[in-house]
Amino acid sequence: MLPLNSNLEGKVAVVTGGGGVLCGCMARELGRQGMKVAILNRTYEKAVKVVDEIKAAGGEALAIECDVLSVESVKRAEEIVSAEYGSCDVLINGAGGNHPNGITTKEIFEKSDLTRDELTTFFDMTPEGFGFVFNLNFIGTLIPTQIFAKNMIETQGTIINISSMSAPSPMTKVPAYSAAKSAIENFTKWLAVHFAEAGLRVNAIAPGFFLTEQNRALLTNPDGTNTERTNKILAGTPMRRLGKPEDLLGTLLWLVDKEASGFVTGISVPVDGGFMAYSGV
Ligand code: NAD
Repeated sequence: MLPLNSNLEGKVAVVTGGGGVLCGCMARELGRQGMKVAILNRTYEKAVKVVDEIKAAGGEALAIECDVLSVESVKRAEEIVSAEYGSCDVLINGAGGNHPNGITTKEIFEKSDLTRDELTTFFDMTPEGFGFVFNLNFIGTLIPTQIFAKNMIETQGTIINISSMSAPSPMTKVPAYSAAKSAIENFTKWLAVHFAEAGLRVNAIAPGFFLTEQNRALLTNPDGTNTERTNKILAGTPMRRLGKPEDLLGTLLWLVDKEASGFVTGISVPVDGGFMAYSGV
């Protein structure tokens, strides 16, 4: 268990997608550290579950139904957070994920695929399907940043975006997700520069491969065994295991504490068991 950090006590954290696996774990840790945690999630019940867990452990938290793709919805959430807790100190842009309409069936294209109707090839992807995944990940980071960052100038807060190993080098099958995560890393740098003189720091965490709801079908077979893709991931991960959500917490606590990382802005920290460092040879 990580040590408690009194610098974080009483501060306000807003976690989009906080009802999910990775950001739910982050939200619980920030609650354990004494922060007031607002969980913004599209599915309200998932946010409530994490809030209940934080409260049961003695922390303070608030569940808000919010769609990060709707300006109105995020504005409403910001008003609730401001009224209940005051201005945000830490914004985690965690809502994100994939969708079958943004995924090709096969990793590598073969000419004969053009005659196989059962496949979703690159040519079958629609701008709408691609756009849904791109927007969820990228525009879903832009909108909450615009709406929450204004008051964060006053709190000298910090923003954490969630990238992926698909940003430095795109994963097969998921072009929309990869493009969006790459855009998030670029945007993290842009925001960091833009707001540096105003005292707002912006960084990203790039998780390696973690088994969660959004990728369960890609990583495990119905009988629970590893898919071929998972075996490839493990072969490309020098530490030879998938990540556990708790693996992200040390990096998170470092980045959100001004005393620890006050001169760090515009970076993306891989938490990936060495995946990014390994050429495969
Ligand atoms: P998850 O599906 O468990 O959590 C995502 C959460 O976002 C869910 O609670 C979902 O309800 C919520 N959400 C989806 N659309 C939303 C919207 N429009 N508005 C508000 N909330 C919405 O997924 P996770 O694996 O915990 O992923 C969290 C973040 O980490 C994502 O950005 C994901 O891309 C990223 N990530 C995950 C992995 C991994 O291996 N799982 C790796 C790298 C990056």
